[in-house]
Amino acid sequence: MLVQFGACRLELVQGDITRQSVDAIVNAANSKLAGGGGVDGAIHRAAGSTLMDETRQQYPDGCPTGSAVATSGGLLKAKFVFHAVGPIWRGGVFGEIDLLKSAYRRCLELAVEHSCRSVAFPAISTGVYGYPIDLAAETSLAVTREFLLTQKKPDLVRFVLFDGGAFGAYARVLDAMAD
Ligand code: ADP
Repeated sequence: MLVQFGACRLELVQGDITRQSVDAIVNAANSKLAGGGGVDGAIHRAAGSTLMDETRQQYPDGCPTGSAVATSGGLLKAKFVFHAVGPIWRGGVFGEIDLLKSAYRRCLELAVEHSCRSVAFPAISTGVYGYPIDLAAETSLAVTREFLLTQKKPDLVRFVLFDGGAFGAYARVLDAMAD
């Protein structure tokens, strides 16, 4: 599914983020940048050990929740990986929505700072961190739409949803947004 916002494209696909041919992919990391399961494990396995070497050297203190840091893409097709730290869902009353927005916004800023024309996101926080998928779709698509309409960059933002349920949730929200 593809929607145009000004000169920019926002695309939804179902698949594996490690296989995307884009300038940057986003990782759903933890605040210690310590590696983990889920999409984080898949990205580190596919990219090789340079990613962990870079995060240890450049970001020994990790990354705060709601922010993101950049490394190279290692063995991936992508030139960069942006390690974003989304919030753990604790009922929605601990600022989770703003923290998730801020993690996405920081990645979009990093894409612009690194002259990336295309960037791919997973559904940050919706796995082990427990953020409800429908709300995650609303939160992440709204902040991306606003960024693309105001900053007019990057050219392409792709959301890579791992399963059909997540893809359906994102598609319903984007459909409503494009009307
Ligand atoms: P978090 O700790 O931020 O919740 P997870 O990795 O547990 O991170 O899950 C985030 C989302 O990434 C989930 O929706 C999960 O289904 C999805 N996911 C897992 N592996 C991949 C992958 N290879 N490509 C894209 N998305 C993935």
